[in-house]
Amino acid sequence: MRYNGEYYEGRHEPIITKKLFDDVQEVMKQKSKPQKPDKMKFFLYRGLFRCGECSYAITADRKIKKSGKQYTYYYCTKKNPNHKCSQNVFTREEKILSQINEVLQKVSLSNDWADWMIKKLEREKEEKVQSSRFFAQKIESEIKEIDEKLEKLMTAYLENALSLE
Ligand SMILES: [Zn+2]
Repeated sequence: MRYNGEYYEGRHEPIITKKLFDDVQEVMKQKSKPQKPDKMKFFLYRGLFRCGECSYAITADRKIKKSGKQYTYYYCTKKNPNHKCSQNVFTREEKILSQINEVLQKVSLSNDWADWMIKKLEREKEEKVQSSRFFAQKIESEIKEIDEKLEKLMTAYLENALSLE
């Protein structure tokens, strides 16, 4: 424990074990290490797909055409030591995107269904608003009634028609 700039042996029960403390320090040290520059380059689909032939990771790179336009390509890392992968294909990111869209189309909701669901939700919301409005009106009229009773009592009291009790 540090107190007034000096360290003293603590006599309290530690909240966490020394081992856990040391482990956490180690993890934090690892995390604060700078990453290799290559790992910081961002590719949308890197790490998402594996090669259909050798099942090893698909990686990506960027190329700049003569026109100055940049393209992102994906290709097999071919790092499987037990299989000499024959894939020499570089696939453009746009092509992958259109294939993903095709798959998503098959499982996505049709517009008709989506419209129907949205309308149903809107109706439910409207009903809820109606019922809380009705509830509020009921309470308001109750309050008004009680106020009127109070007023009558007060008048009767002030005119000495009622004792304080
Ligand atoms: Zn491969």
